[in-house]
Formats: sequence, C-alpha cells, structure tokens
Amino acid sequence: MGSQVTLAALVALLIGLAAGKAWERYKLRDGQWIDRRRARESPHYMLGLNFLVADQVDHAIEELTRAAQLSGEGLEIHLILGNLYREKGQVGRAIQEHQALLQRPNLRKLEHANVLLCLGLDYKAGGFVDRALEAFSEVLRMDPGNEYALSNLEKLYEEQHQWQEAYATRQLLAAGAVEEKQPRHREILAFLEDALGRDALKRLDYGQAARHFSAAIEMDSKNTPAYLNLGDVQFYQGNVADAVVTWERLVATSPERAYLAFSRLESAYPKAGSDTSFPELCRTLIADNPQDWRARLALARHLSSRGAPRDALERLFEALVINPHALALHQAIWQTLSSLELPRPLVDRYVELTRSSIFYLDPHICMRCRYRSTELLWQCPHCHEWNTFVEERIAPKDIEALVEEGTPAVGQDDEPADLSSTR
Ligand SMILES: [Zn+2]
Repeated sequence: MGSQVTLAALVALLIGLAAGKAWERYKLRDGQWIDRRRARESPHYMLGLNFLVADQVDHAIEELTRAAQLSGEGLEIHLILGNLYREKGQVGRAIQEHQALLQRPNLRKLEHANVLLCLGLDYKAGGFVDRALEAFSEVLRMDPGNEYALSNLEKLYEEQHQWQEAYATRQLLAAGAVEEKQPRHREILAFLEDALGRDALKRLDYGQAARHFSAAIEMDSKNTPAYLNLGDVQFYQGNVADAVVTWERLVATSPERAYLAFSRLESAYPKAGSDTSFPELCRTLIADNPQDWRARLALARHLSSRGAPRDALERLFEALVINPHALALHQAIWQTLSSLELPRPLVDRYVELTRSSIFYLDPHICMRCRYRSTELLWQCPHCHEWNTFVEERIAPKDIEALVEEGTPAVGQDDEPADLSSTR
C-alpha cells in the first residue's frame, strides 16, 4: 500500500518534471537542453523509468545514476535521484543531492523553486521541521500559489498545532482553487477553525472559543465537532437551552453522527425541563433510519433506567442484529438479562442471534489510505487527511429475515405515534 502511494507520487513528479513549466522554460532559455535530451535518450534513463514503474527503486537509482553521469548537467535526473534516496529513507543523501543543485550558477527561478521544494520534502522526511518550513516558504516567495508547497506547509503547521498559520495557508490554497473544490476547502477550514476553538477552550476563554466554533459551523454546516464543542461551551456557561439547540442542530444536519450528542442531550433535556424529549429523539432517529443501532442502544439504556428492562432488551436485540460487533451492545444485553435474573428463553434468543452474526474489528476506515480505527477520528493519523473516516458495515445479508426469525418484528410493540413523530 505504502509503496503504491510512493510510486504514484514519483510517477506524478516525473510527469510533472517532463511536461511541466520548468522543463519548457529550461528548454526555451537554456542552451544546455541538448545534453539533457541525450540523457533522456540513453537506455539508462528509460531503464530507470521502467524500474521505477515496476517499483524496483534500487535498480531505478542505479540506472538513473548512470544516466546522470552521462548527462552531467541534467538537472531533473539529479532531482529525481534525490527524491528516490528520500523515498528509500536515505534522507542525508537526498539532501546532499539537492543542495548540490542549489550551488549551480544560472538556475532559472522556477528550477530553483523546484529544487527547494524537493529539499523541503527531504527536511520534512528527516524531521527538520524549521528548515522544511523555511524551504517551503522560500518556494512560495519564488512561486506564489505553488500548491505543493502550500499543502506541505499546511501539514507541517498542523503537526506543530499552529492552527492559525495552517488556516491562513489553507485560505491561500482555496483562493487558487476552482469552484468545485471549494466545499472541500471549506470543510478543512472548518476543522482548523474548530481546532482554534479548542485551543481557546484550553485557555478557558469561553467567549473566544464560542466564536471559533460558531465560525466553523458557519464555514461548513456539517462540521460535527464544532456543534459538540459549541454546545459544551454554552453548557459550561449555564445556557442549557442554547446548548440543547446547538446539539439538536447537529442531529438535524448529520443524523448519522447524532449519537455523539446522546449523553449530552440525555443529561441536558431534564435540566431544560423536558423528561420525554430524549426517548422521543431516539424514536424519531430510528424511524428515519431503521439501521440506527446507536439510537436503539441509547433508547434501551434510557428505558432500563426508567424501569422497563424487557422493552429495553427488545431494542438491544434489534441493535445487535444491525451491528453484532458493538461490545457496548453485548454489555448492555448482559446487564439487562442479569437484572431480569437471566430468563432462559431470552438468553437462548441472545445466543441464537450472536451465532448467526458476522463479527468484524476496527469498523472505522479512512477512505483515503484505508487506515483502520476502533473509534471515529476527525483527522487520519496515517495520511493526515481531514474527515475521511466512514464506518464499515458488515451486517448479515438478510437483516429482516434474521430479526423475524430471532426476535419479534422490529417496531411491533412501538407506539405508532412514536414512530411517526417528527422533530
Ligand atoms: Zn488516512
């Protein structure tokens, strides 16, 4: 997986260097281009590219080194060689190769920027954060709007938790982007705004934190953590009613993530004067999405705490069929069975339901790099992309048949009024 990503990046770089502006300018303005063409026509260059495509980096380095010796001055071959050393983890050699290029007289501005960009990537790979920041910033001075430099710079700022700088960098990226890409930029800006709010929250600056969280929601109305955090701030400040409104807005805009606000809402509703709002909310969510096992779990817990364990158990059995993986469901079921003193028919039904279920682990998966996680994450720890996790669902093929077989039909004993109630 990793080598494929590397390969894609290398091939993209090759194409970029072969067809990009730097090449064109070099060819147009520099008398040395014939040398370079000779190198590109040499069998070593072609062999090197073939090995690269076949993901045989060592052989690629060997052949490209020979091609570089033939060409002498061929700038891009040395650039690529340096990049290959970096990909192999030989950061020192990569830096040497690229720094040597910087010493050359008569470097064109764009060539200079390309070398600096590669050097910045070397520094980043070697963990020399300050030098990497410097290199990427220098690239931008020479080539403002260089997307590659901007996105690398942003990731570095994010790693340092310099959210303000990351935000400004993302704004520059957004400014140069076409309209179709704007929603993705707004999505990321909202996460960065939320991060600024969390920093303010750590300083106990509630006013500033609330402004950041509101701005995040304004930027992207689907930003889940900003709703949670804004509601928390309002709750800390004693505005229970406002907090409830904020969390309900999350439920309305992203019902699949409503569960993140469940415990908050369950404790806030009674304080806001409503004891029935929470079970009503759960029932509405279940009616809108029959696959919602978390709303069933929350409703079951609520019912158990209100002295209705048998009703709770039915909701838990339904939820178990939808997501047999959730440990929380098994725990809740055993607690409930135990409180009912383990009635044999109900225990048998549980055993039967679990036997016919498919179990799987780490249900959250990054859409970009396939990294798996047991919990929902807002930023991928592997590829550092924002908001890329989806929940993988492997339910039994025929849920309805299983429910009918194992438990009474879903919703049979629900009040019709509850099922059809709307928010
Ligand atoms: Zn990822």
